[in-house]
Amino acid sequence: MGHTIAWTHEVGGEPSPGAGGVLRLLRDTARAEADGRVEILAAACGMCGPEEVEFEVAKGECFCVGCCIPLGIVDGYAHPAAFYPWRLEPSGAPLPPASSGPGFEPSDVPRCPAGHDVFHVAVALAFAADGVLRGISVALRCPEDGALCLYVDNARVVPRTA
Ligand SMILES: [Zn+2]
Ligand SMILES: [Zn+2]
Repeated sequence: MGHTIAWTHEVGGEPSPGAGGVLRLLRDTARAEADGRVEILAAACGMCGPEEVEFEVAKGECFCVGCCIPLGIVDGYAHPAAFYPWRLEPSGAPLPPASSGPGFEPSDVPRCPAGHDVFHVAVALAFAADGVLRGISVALRCPEDGALCLYVDNARVVPRTA
């Protein structure tokens, strides 16, 4: 089963500034386990600071356009409170395409319908009732035209043991 990205546009025509649209998209789609909760955050670069909110995306990971440091979607740094390493498993929807090898294939890199490849990123963390992080979703928003997509659809977070 392939990974297809369904792009939508923000309602109202004019793209709204900032991450409002992606946050709303995640609120509509993220699912917590049982009685858990969902934390939704607009991603900003931990190195460059809160002003740097644009990312290049490849192989399921988001890289700051300022310093190229990854957000840590695929390996755990995306968790703001306490880093612990994880890996992702598909749940329901497949994970984003990722070719093997160090380079990026064109299929690894999502583009909005207009061809842009730099995005605002919002992350939803789904916690179980016991407070354990169980799932992660990632939404992208094209800052040029406001195109939105759900990039990672509720992937399952599995703690990684060395
Ligand atoms: Zn940065
Ligand atoms: Zn665009």
